[in-house]
Amino acid sequence: MTKRANGWEAPVLSTRTDKCHAEGGLLRPCEALHNAIEDGAPSTHKGLILFETVNFETLKPSKSLVYARSGEFTAYGVVLRYCPFCGADIYSHWEVD
Ligand SMILES: [Zn+2]
Repeated sequence: MTKRANGWEAPVLSTRTDKCHAEGGLLRPCEALHNAIEDGAPSTHKGLILFETVNFETLKPSKSLVYARSGEFTAYGVVLRYCPFCGADIYSHWEVD
């Protein structure tokens, strides 16, 4: 984890791949999406943000997705269903229990 000055630890996006895919509930982004995601969320910045839920029993991320904050969607964002770089489905894993 990358610890920031405010104490928040940025999630490490491991296992960069040629195409986005999910492992369990976690999104493993392709190289381009990985590089485009804003580091240091939670944030009020515009851009692509990684959102993760945490399992409170294990204290590890259990699910993740990417959303965009831009234009009229800056306040709440809009979830990306497909990677804008490799075209892979980056949302369906979120809906699986
Ligand atoms: Zn991708």
